[in-house]
Formats: sequence, C-alpha cells, structure tokens
Amino acid sequence: MIQLRKPAVFLDRDGVLTEERSYIASIEGLHIFPYAAECVRRIHEKGYYAIVITNQSGVARGLFSEEQLAKMNEYLMQRTGVDAVYFCPHHPEGKVAKYRQDCRCRKPGTGLFEAACREWNIDMAHSYMVGDRAGDVIAGQNAGVKTVLVESGYGSERLECDVSPDYVFEDLRGLVGML
Ligand SMILES: [Zn+2]
Repeated sequence: MIQLRKPAVFLDRDGVLTEERSYIASIEGLHIFPYAAECVRRIHEKGYYAIVITNQSGVARGLFSEEQLAKMNEYLMQRTGVDAVYFCPHHPEGKVAKYRQDCRCRKPGTGLFEAACREWNIDMAHSYMVGDRAGDVIAGQNAGVKTVLVESGYGSERLECDVSPDYVFEDLRGLVGML
C-alpha cells in the first residue's frame, strides 16, 4: 500500500495523550486525556498523520511484556484515533536480556522516526514532534522536525536539561489550535 505523502504530528504518549505516570503496565493504568481524541481528529482534518513515538523501557526492565504493551497500543489507537504507535522496548541496563541494548530507536535516537517515515511516506520538513520531556525535543531536532514542548506531563520546570523547542504550550490543544 502506498501512502499519500503528508506531514505528521509525532506524539509522545505519556504526558501528551495520557497522564504521566511511571511504567504504565496495563490498559487500566492508561488515563487518556479527555481532549486527546478531539485533538487527533483535528490533526487529521488539518492534513497530518498522528503517530505516537514512545520509549517503553518498562519492557526491558521486566515490568510488563511486549504483549501487554501491544494491548495498550491497540487501546490507545481505538480511543484516540492515532494512526500508529511506534515504541522502543529497549534499555541499555534492562533486566530482560533480549531487550538490553543500546539501540537507535530509544529517543533521543531517531530510529522510530525513520521507520515511521518509510512506512507512511512522511514529509518530515513540515512535521512536528510533541513531547513533555527534553528527550522528546532533542529527538525531534535530531529527526529534522519542528519541536513542541507541552507542560501537561512533567512540566517545563522538570526538564532534565536545557532545550530550545520551537513552541511551548500548556497541552496538545495549543499546537492543534495553531496548525
Ligand atoms: Zn530501542
């Protein structure tokens, strides 16, 4: 299937579409923001794909399995309407040998963006990355897209390091209003 070439709004999951909690292991733990589905609907309406790019090192840490994560991804897609979920299950110090590695897909690496770009034929120059952490902003910059920091997760006062996103909004609705 050949996808139409379009830009994307890449979305971090925790703190952007769902409430930020550490290592969410099941659907019950996934608290989707009430405005998430409406935002995704408007992202589509404005001509963008909505694609989740998320680090899920809980798999490498042995806190939940890739099967459990697949269920959460399915639920997230159904409830918000996002087109796809790309995840990194790895961590360099993970407990589960299979996932213990220095990978290129863990943000701020760009492996997941590259996979999404190939599979969805994405116009990266007109795309955005939205996240609540410094790593999301750096990942977006590394991938060559515009970057948006939202304060609906960890909040800007808790950034791990200094970053310069192109835009800062209270939450995802700020970006959607600007598209
Ligand atoms: Zn990875």
